[in-house]
Amino acid sequence: MKYCKQCLMPDTRPGITFHDDGVCSPCHNYEKQKITDWGNRTKEFEVICDKYRGKYGNGYDCAISVSGGKDSHFQVWYMKEVMGMNPVLLSVGNIDWTDTGRKNIANLSDTFSCDIISIMPNHHVARLLSKKAFIEIGSPTWYADALIYAYPYRMTMQLGLHLLVYGENVNYTYGGKYNIETASAKLQAKNDVVKPVWNQWLQDGQLTEKELESAKQPTLDECEKYGLEPIYLSYFVPWDSHRNYEQAKRWGFRHLSHEYTREGTIEQYNQIDSIGYLLNQYLKYPKFGHASATEMASRWIRSGIATRDEMILHVKKHDKILDQGIVDSFLDFTGMRPSEFWKTIDKWYNPKLFYQDKWGIWHEKFEVGVGIKQ
Ligand SMILES: [Zn+2]
Repeated sequence: MKYCKQCLMPDTRPGITFHDDGVCSPCHNYEKQKITDWGNRTKEFEVICDKYRGKYGNGYDCAISVSGGKDSHFQVWYMKEVMGMNPVLLSVGNIDWTDTGRKNIANLSDTFSCDIISIMPNHHVARLLSKKAFIEIGSPTWYADALIYAYPYRMTMQLGLHLLVYGENVNYTYGGKYNIETASAKLQAKNDVVKPVWNQWLQDGQLTEKELESAKQPTLDECEKYGLEPIYLSYFVPWDSHRNYEQAKRWGFRHLSHEYTREGTIEQYNQIDSIGYLLNQYLKYPKFGHASATEMASRWIRSGIATRDEMILHVKKHDKILDQGIVDSFLDFTGMRPSEFWKTIDKWYNPKLFYQDKWGIWHEKFEVGVGIKQ
């Protein structure tokens, strides 16, 4: 296990690459933003927006995939106020919305005067797959993630629109398999967030292909034949999630602290529309030895708002904690018993990074920021 010399991201993150200087690609990609010719990128973006602005009369010019979060506020502000587009917002609802999440998505519509078209996930499928995907592939939010990647593509085409706007390229910005900077988001579904295990869910006959269809992203071929143009806004405008948060507050975005205090995170502004969703974030800890605190600490270090040394203690303290509310909400929704839940968590511990003592408690074999203890 090797850590980036600049931030706190370890090489156990799937797909992440390190340069010869011992610094991870996300850090290098963040720095690259400082020498990017943004004037030129803006011109490229103007050409794209000009193609669609007013093309459908008084109808929508484009669609934006939103959750209602800080990045969504930035995206909608940029598309509507800066680029002068008339967007429709496409969102996937949560099974367990927080009040803050509901207020934030309503605020997007209110502040920027936009229509929102939302899909409410199929509760029956969500209940079955939360448990199944947790036990079988360690990804309890597989169904929600699949919908988030599929629904905006499908709906944009059903609305007869062509330009679909996403925020950042997750693999390029934070590390992952498809680490190439592109304006186009057409290969987004291949970024490994949603494992391609569709057939696995059909084997025991509890679900049918029809029930999963809405969560399937249209193929590349279908998108190309239709002429869909999905793009990452992060290609055209510098991307910084903390800056997005600071800016979103000015448009009425609210953090979670006044409703709920999360355990295991160092902030209360990222992925706050659902509590249960964070089980997926937490599972990175037993699998890869890093979770939400490492991710956010690394972003802050890159932005220069904290130092690597300052963040080590926070990561050590928070990443290992699974919020009690996440457990409660997951057990309640899936009907799992606590012992079954924790046995499943045990299954996802990587023995190269952790050992279990005779009491069943797991311990780290690594030192945050350093690597495996000698
Ligand atoms: Zn780094």
